[in-house]
Amino acid sequence: METKYIFVTGGVVSSLGKGVATASIGLLLKSYGLRVTLQKIDPYINVDPGTMNPYQHGEVFVTKDGAECDLDLGHYERFLNDSLARDNNITTGQIYYSVISKERRGEYLGKTVQVVPHITDEIKSRIMKLGTTNNIDVVVTEIGGTVGDIEGQPFLEAARQMRLDHGKQNTLYIHLTLVPFIKAAREFKTKPTQHSVRELRAIGIQPDVLLCRSDSWLTDDERKKISLFCNVPVEAVIDAVDVECIYEIPLMFHRQKLDQMILSNLGIDKKEPDLAEWELFVQRAKSPNKVVEIAICGKYVELRDAYKSIMEALYHAAVANDARLKVKWIDTDRIGDDVALENTFAYVNGILVPGGFGMRGVEGKIRVVKYARERKKPFFGICLGLQCMVIEYARNVCGMKGANSSEFDDATPHPVIDLLPEQKKIKNLGGTMRLGDYPCRLESKSLARKIYTKECIEERHRHRYEVNPKYIKPLQEKGLVFSGKSPNGKLMEIAEINNHPFFIGTQFHPEFTSRPLAPNPIFYRFIKASLQNI
Ligand code: GLN
Repeated sequence: METKYIFVTGGVVSSLGKGVATASIGLLLKSYGLRVTLQKIDPYINVDPGTMNPYQHGEVFVTKDGAECDLDLGHYERFLNDSLARDNNITTGQIYYSVISKERRGEYLGKTVQVVPHITDEIKSRIMKLGTTNNIDVVVTEIGGTVGDIEGQPFLEAARQMRLDHGKQNTLYIHLTLVPFIKAAREFKTKPTQHSVRELRAIGIQPDVLLCRSDSWLTDDERKKISLFCNVPVEAVIDAVDVECIYEIPLMFHRQKLDQMILSNLGIDKKEPDLAEWELFVQRAKSPNKVVEIAICGKYVELRDAYKSIMEALYHAAVANDARLKVKWIDTDRIGDDVALENTFAYVNGILVPGGFGMRGVEGKIRVVKYARERKKPFFGICLGLQCMVIEYARNVCGMKGANSSEFDDATPHPVIDLLPEQKKIKNLGGTMRLGDYPCRLESKSLARKIYTKECIEERHRHRYEVNPKYIKPLQEKGLVFSGKSPNGKLMEIAEINNHPFFIGTQFHPEFTSRPLAPNPIFYRFIKASLQNI
């Protein structure tokens, strides 16, 4: 089968959930046994989001092969139940970087280098590369931003050209738009949708399918009106109403036959999807019998997107434990000496300290760790969370006054967390961390080994600092167990203590590999232990 290319664009406003819609389309097509991959285009000039503040961008998702990516890649992996890679996320920065480098090497043979065709050719080649390298049947490419944005134009132009190059039977345009309900008029308004489709058509793209975000179901008349004004068949006006759980979205699309329409437009002959497992997951997610409350103690708590994968991983683990997840957000910047943590955590079953950069909020995190360790509350530290565990242990159990990470205090007498020697030489900040999958060996009889039930695992990393090898022995002598290490034994990947129901930290980020149909084992066991802590 020739590779098919689907483009998902957005109109009216941002944050309509284009990423989840794209992921849902991917899952539906995959459920017919097709080989599907998903790609995100980010029209900003940064080469990747790795250097952006979480307040700007939300979480930075890390792929297996160590690319720092948009958080939509997380949705893609979770819905597809598959790992993606560097090429699945492209940015304006990468496109221009590569075109300008080619120009410097003289590869354009004296030509004037222009947006059309050179930038658009580069974009198209990166879309097609995904299809051809892995023998993929369908590539679904989501174009970030909203139609009408200046920086999105070259990408929309490239998408337009793709139909010219590959024909109607191999390309499909899906547009996600908003149909607001205006209370005063007690009516849905279709005008914003009409305008955004007109904008698309001005670029030369006639959408084949419209996904209409609305608070409640549109009537047939409203759908007919949208169909008429936007020149889209009425059965291709799909309603995307608000749902309780994002994992329901593919099922909602399926009930409206979106999948069948995509297949018939692309001339793919497939009969029945296999959505049984997914349906079961959604059913379980919607009717749990227990409740588990987890405190997430970080510093970007006002911006929930900063902890997207952690939230999802907790959710998957809660569903697997038949529990409804409640999250209590704790801003560690506000946890001073005077805060009574027993009140803060009175109704909380488990405590999680996530990753982070910079010293704001770190002392609060260290106080939280101390509380969880002493009061035997189930505790899970991720990346900076593990580093805080080590600092807390060094200060309060090993008596190393002033112990710290050299990231926060370069004059500390005990730099228990320090830069790796190879990180010390690096000057640039972009793409220079320890990134992506690394193997880890688990000590027999440890909690980590019980959790993963095997000796060797691989998980994803994103950090510069490590447990300082000089302090491993003194920490161990006082009871801190390093239960996961790099295969050469030099890097400490997991720490835990005995005589505690659940107290564990990982230098890696297990949240990136958790999927609804395959929750990450540490999250699963953390929730299980938390449920026992009532
Ligand atoms: N700032 C720490 C480091 O770079 C932790 C990073 C993180 O939590 N992702 O090592």
